[in-house]
Order: sequence, then C-alpha cells, then structure tokens
Amino acid sequence: MIRYPSSDAGWNFDNSYVRLPEFFYSRVKPTPVAAPRLVVLNARLAEELGLNAEVLKSEEGVQVLAGNRFPDGAALIAQAYAGHQFGHFTRLGDGRAILLGEQLTPEGERFDIQYKGSGRTPYSRGGDGRAALGPMLREYIISEAMHALGIPTTRSLAVVTTGEEIIRETLLPGAILIRVATSHLRVGTFQYAAAFGSVDELRALADYALDRHFPGLEADHRYLGLLREVILRQASLVAKWQLVGFVHGVMNTDNMTISGETIDYGPCAFMDAYDPATVFSSIDIHGRYAYGNQPRIAAWNLARFAEALLPLIHENEERAVELAQEEVSRFPDLFRREWLAGMRSKLGLAGEEAEDETLIDDLLSIMYKHKADWTNTFLALTFNREETLPMHGTPEFLEWLGRWKERLGRQRESEEQVRKRMRNHNPAVIPRNHRVEEALEAAEKGDPDVLHRLLDVLSKPFAHTPDQEEYAEPSPYSCEYRTFCGT
Ligand code: AMP
Ligand code: MG
Repeated sequence: MIRYPSSDAGWNFDNSYVRLPEFFYSRVKPTPVAAPRLVVLNARLAEELGLNAEVLKSEEGVQVLAGNRFPDGAALIAQAYAGHQFGHFTRLGDGRAILLGEQLTPEGERFDIQYKGSGRTPYSRGGDGRAALGPMLREYIISEAMHALGIPTTRSLAVVTTGEEIIRETLLPGAILIRVATSHLRVGTFQYAAAFGSVDELRALADYALDRHFPGLEADHRYLGLLREVILRQASLVAKWQLVGFVHGVMNTDNMTISGETIDYGPCAFMDAYDPATVFSSIDIHGRYAYGNQPRIAAWNLARFAEALLPLIHENEERAVELAQEEVSRFPDLFRREWLAGMRSKLGLAGEEAEDETLIDDLLSIMYKHKADWTNTFLALTFNREETLPMHGTPEFLEWLGRWKERLGRQRESEEQVRKRMRNHNPAVIPRNHRVEEALEAAEKGDPDVLHRLLDVLSKPFAHTPDQEEYAEPSPYSCEYRTFCGT
C-alpha cells in the first residue's frame, strides 16, 4: 500500500477509488473560494480520523477545508453514478461533490473525505456546484444526531463558509460541508456500471465493493453474497430509521449506499405526531418517500441493485433472476424482524411472545388516532408520564396499558431493568425541526452558540438529563413543515 507523507494536520491518504477504471470518475479540482471561514469543526471526529483539530482550525487548515489548497496525496475526483430519481432512471454523478481523499486512520480504517458544495464537475448538469450554509449545517446537525442515536450514517467533519453568495430563490451565503463516509458507493454506482459500462467494469466495481466493505465473504457466489449483505444492512438501517421516526425524504437509488450508511440529508426530518403518511419534502407530492413507505421503497431500490448485478450472479440470465429474486424477497421479513426487535426494546419487552405484534400494532393505532408524538409517547411510557399523552384516560389506551403491564409482569426482571432497557432505546431528544431552524438562523446571523448547544444536546440522546427536556417539545409548526431538495 502506498503511504503518503502526512502533514501536520494528519492527512494520510491512500486513494483506492482512482485504481478503478477511469470510467468511474473524473479528475476535477474544487473551484477556489473567495474568503473561507470555519463555522463548525467536529473535533471528536477529527481525532478518530487521526487529524489534528487545532491544525484544521488554523488558516492553512481552513484553506484545505474550503478546497483552496490540498494536502499531499489528495485524490480530487468526482464520482460517476446513475440512479432512479422518483422512479425515473437518470445518468448522474457528483455534481457538487469532490473526493479529497481516502483517509487511513490510526486504527487502519478507511474513510472518504469529501467536499460537498465545492464547485462544478463534469456531472453538474445545470447546477452551479455550490451549496448554501443552511442546508450544509442542517446535514451536519442531523447526520451527527443520527450517529449519536446509533444509526449508521455518513458523518460531518466541518462546515466552512466561502465568503461568496450563491443564487437560490434569494442570495444565500455559500458553504462547503466536509462529509466523511466509509465509502460513497451507491446502488446508483452499480446502475451506472450496468447501464453504461462493460461486464468487466461492473465486475471491477463489485470486487472493489466486496474488498472495501465485505472482505470476509467467501469466494463462491460472492456477487450474490454482496447482494445479500447489502439487503441485510439496508433492512437493518431502515428499521432503525422507522424506530426513531426519521423520514429520509429522497430515497432515490443514488441516495442508497452499499455500506448501509444513511446518506444525503436533503429534505429529511424527524416525524413529530405519528402518521405513516408523513412527508417533509416539498417536491414529494405523491408521498412516494413518506415515512410509512420507506421499507417498501428500500426493497424497490434493492431490486434495482439486484438487476444491476445480474450479469455477475449467473451466466444463465433466467437462473440469475431466480437467485436474485430469492434474496430480494427476503427483505420484508428481515426488515420486520429488526423492527420488531427494536419496538420490543422500546416497550421494555424481553423475549418474544406471540401477542407482541398485536400489542405493538394496537399502540400504533392509538397513537395515530390521537396524533401522539412519536418520540414523546415512548418517553412517557419510559418515565411513567402517561398523563401527558393525548390518549390519556381513553378506554382503548387504558386497556392497552393493562395488557402492556401484564406482558411486562410476565418477565422475570426488576422494574429497574425494564426501565433501563427503555431508557437505552428511547431517545430523550431528536433534532426537532424548529430547533434545527433556530440554530440555522442564528448561525446565518453569525451567532454559533445556539448551534453548539443543540449539537451538544443531540450528542447524548440516551442521557435523559434535565437540560434536554426543553429540546423534547414537539415542533409548533410540524404539520406544514417542508424541506427542500436542490439545496
Ligand atoms: P441529490 O438530490 O442531493 O441527491 O442530488 C441529485 C444529483 O444532483 C446529485 O448528483 C448531485 O450531485 C446533483 N446536484 C445537486 N445540487 C447540485 C448543484 N447545486 N450543482 C450541481 N449538481 C448538483
Ligand atoms: Mg444525492
């Protein structure tokens, strides 16, 4: 392995992606920006990556974070991909993202370090290659909150403003996010290879993904194994989303990773009142990516992944389809199993009983009927605060509470053990929409304190400390809340 001399900041790149055929990327440099300024730096993540936060904060460090200068050994490529966007197949690529390099950490792990908002690339199509401060900070807040919640996700190392304005509906401050991921391989990367490349290129990509993410997979049927592993990871990921009420908002196949990390925080948000039809994205008119549809859409996307892999799965196309179909068909069960296990934990249940599914489904029906807040319902159950819930005192909820308590009574566990399980599975705080907006507004006006306090509160979602309580209030404008793509 080639190791580059590391600078003071600790950059230590080894760029495996550029060893793939050139068909998969374009060499392109970030467009220099006028006056970079650091808005937020993730010191803990920097340390995990083997980077020196103090050096990153220095003038030289910020020039690197802004894409004006590069450490030795930088990759500087935009990755090509394709994808189904709202069901329609399109050729895409990093339109405003450039890979700085793959950082090898002191622990020997490999992470993509990527600029988002760093200027045009050959894949920009009509776009300006830029990003605004608000959406980049939003990605920073929500991705880091997801990480703290224990949900696989890309991370955020830093946000810098560029000192330039960008044109959206109004003029907005331009910014760059430094995104960190175990890779940026997407379902759409495979679709790109399958649609526009040769079988050799497709195989090179699959081998690369296997090496990078599933090095332990046996030699026989390894491409079917790749499909199986990605299905497993996505079933687990989407179950975790559902358990915290996360709505991704734009589950296009180019926004679904091979690693099983959540990626692309565009029009995403956390649901307040429980409603499977919850949609935040302003352009998702038909609710394709609504909360309740996410498992089904994940399965649909994985079917597209399976299609892309067909030439590698078996030389006989019919047999390949059969084998791939079998794997994809397992998704609903895999998802349901993960989700049920998570819901049992949220309700403090140990072991499995036949009536658990009914118990869970009945609670959901009551929550839906009374527009109960997703997060706070489980918190109320955890801390015996049922009287705070909108369904409090109704016969159906009393009956349900009785059944739940009976079920808990059959566990040979202390009340404290049950509560502990519930505390560990029911977050005290999620990034509530109004809190996120408040932090973004303050940061845009040059006051970073609101943002830092929010980040701090969100970094310990299972601490259940008194200072988190004011952050648990549902958003006053949850129903009309809309988020925007093309940010
Ligand atoms: P997204 O909806 O964020 O997944 O973006 C879809 C595609 O559009 C991706 O390939 C992005 O890189 C690209 N894109 C989004 N915004 C811009 C922009 N401002 N300039 C160029 N490309 C963009
Ligand atoms: Mg995307």
